[in-house]
Amino acid sequence: MSFVTVSAKSELINLLDFDRKGLISFFVGMGEKPFRATQLLKWIYQEEVVDFDQMTNLSKSLRAYLKDHCKIVAPEIILEQVASDGTTKWIVEMGLGNRIESVFIPEKKRGTLCVSSQVGCALACTFCSTAKQGFNRNLTVAEIIGQLYVAQQRLGEKKRITNVVMMGMGEPLLNFDNVVAGMNLMMDDFTFGLSKRRVTISTSGVVPAMNRLNQVCDVSMAVSLHAANDELRNELVPINQKYPLSELMAACSEYANLGPRKHITFEYVMLDGINDTTQDARSLVKLLKKIPSKVNLIPFNPFPNSHYRCSSTEQISRFKDVLYKAGIVTTIRKTRGDDIDAACGQLVGKVKDKSRRHLKLQTMDSLHAT
Ligand code: SAH
Repeated sequence: MSFVTVSAKSELINLLDFDRKGLISFFVGMGEKPFRATQLLKWIYQEEVVDFDQMTNLSKSLRAYLKDHCKIVAPEIILEQVASDGTTKWIVEMGLGNRIESVFIPEKKRGTLCVSSQVGCALACTFCSTAKQGFNRNLTVAEIIGQLYVAQQRLGEKKRITNVVMMGMGEPLLNFDNVVAGMNLMMDDFTFGLSKRRVTISTSGVVPAMNRLNQVCDVSMAVSLHAANDELRNELVPINQKYPLSELMAACSEYANLGPRKHITFEYVMLDGINDTTQDARSLVKLLKKIPSKVNLIPFNPFPNSHYRCSSTEQISRFKDVLYKAGIVTTIRKTRGDDIDAACGQLVGKVKDKSRRHLKLQTMDSLHAT
């Protein structure tokens, strides 16, 4: 069954915007019992019923109220592309021409959905194509949980989404409240019931938000590190100029110390001649010494006009060996879906840039051309 717009009235409340806590306040606020929240979550996410008339365990008067004041609307998939390895990319329409991408990566024992958190991205990581298109706005809770909902509907019963990584477009920790509510919803027993170890938030290192996350949401953490010294990281991941490695590592250490089996996954994109020498690997070992870590080496995925190249396979495995010998669990990320531009850093929606980055880039290009 697909989502229906209950009414065209724009002031209707979208119930997908609430996590369980939000729904409880919503119902209690109108004089209903808190358990209405779990009843509604079950209808929407487990029964896939979005027509209030069919929600038979709600009183008639409550159904009538919901019909008048609320809607249940998920974003719409407008394009589906399936790569030769089964990776599936969806372009999802977020209204007013804003489009984002979600990617499903099937593996033998799990199915991972890569979810976007913003339309575009305000950070300017130099090796990422999402960054080049600028930023428009944060996604709503409905648009975040909606990606999981519509993806699971498209995949059907045979392919379950078992894992979610907040590694699509955008910086999730710069859309803190909506991303936290979205992740809490994904882990709710009355929705998808994903375990906290199977939901991962990836950040470029928004330190104050990492510290806040501890208190409201227990998920796995991945950090896009990419360099083991401030000078290089300032260039590759410019948010490092605001939150340098010393502060980032302190936040990682605190997050990892919260639970007995907690560790931080560090993502490290392999850029030929930039950050990929064995000396760089040794600096990384030193940096991670005190933090329970895993390292995920990501072969650089090229995109038009990027001036970086991916490190050679030999260089990547030499780099891996240094980490491995130092006792750090290290994996090399398999590039998935690159024939449909669904690999890391290749996600480009259609963004109305509000940061005017396009203009800046154009000006820079024309300066270079003259
Ligand atoms: N903003 C968040 C979420 C994006 S996750 C973050 O930075 O963590 C996407 C991951 O892919 C990040 O680790 C990012 O650094 C990496 N990435 C971006 N562009 C890439 C590219 N061209 N090739 C390989 N990895 C890339």
